[in-house]
Amino acid sequence: MSSFIQGLDILLRQLRSLDAANRPRVDQAIIDRIEKLKAEDPVETSSRSPVAAYQEPSNAADVVAEQELNSAAATPADDQEVVPADDREQRMATLREKVLVCTKCSHLAEFRHTVVFGVGNPSADLMFVGEAPGADEDLRGEPFVGRAGELLTRIIETMGFKRSDVYIANVLKCRPDMPKGSSGNRQPTPEEMQTCLPYLRDQIEIIQPKVMVALGGVAMRGLFGTSEPMKSLRGRWHTFGNIPVMATFHPSYLLRNQALTEKRKVWEDMLQVLERLDLPITQRQRNFFLAKPEASTNP
Ligand code: SF4
Repeated sequence: MSSFIQGLDILLRQLRSLDAANRPRVDQAIIDRIEKLKAEDPVETSSRSPVAAYQEPSNAADVVAEQELNSAAATPADDQEVVPADDREQRMATLREKVLVCTKCSHLAEFRHTVVFGVGNPSADLMFVGEAPGADEDLRGEPFVGRAGELLTRIIETMGFKRSDVYIANVLKCRPDMPKGSSGNRQPTPEEMQTCLPYLRDQIEIIQPKVMVALGGVAMRGLFGTSEPMKSLRGRWHTFGNIPVMATFHPSYLLRNQALTEKRKVWEDMLQVLERLDLPITQRQRNFFLAKPEASTNP
């Protein structure tokens, strides 16, 4: 079955479950139209649209994530309330107060030092989304403050922003717990991210960024429920609600892999972001992390 048909199947299941629950009543004509599209069996495509790129989940957690993806994707752009800039700080502060005392994941609430809500400009055009706080972030109460955070800050500054110009948040607001006595960090589970995702949604709704950047495969999984590898997700535009999302490698990947080619990949993703934001790009910026021409062996 082509990924296009899989996408239509997912959409149909969602519409039918909404219809069955009568929330809201789904127009039968829409279902009929999708069935007709399926019957036309369009040519298998390698389209990079979010629906085509999305793979049917294989377990219950993924099904929940799929539902979130669909409900996010179903948010009509025209229906989105425009938040006046003056209200954003107040709304963000109110949300922050609520999240700071959240105990929805009791195991994480017991383990954490602080809730890592997010930081930056509530009216930012650009928002970065990571997966979850690590040990450094948990102690400081701020996302991306360890070595990976320093690298992210350098990337942001190389793009021409100050860290305070953008907004930075994680899908999960509490550090994933670790066995007693062990150090290090673990990835958040799909269920944990699913539980916390409404807070990120609220942040996005307040900020209404023009562009988002998803940092790493776990963040992509938290946002979209996709289990595709980063090598196929990276460098492409995805859509969360009505907001374009560029997927790129997590800064910690670049710390592990110092190859110029990998840095260049991330930088090319950031160049796409700057272009999407209609910001000027200098020639110097365009050339960052390009391999220098090898010295000629000719005299
Ligand atoms: S991870 Fe999110 S949902 Fe879970 S306790 Fe922390 S703030 Fe609440």
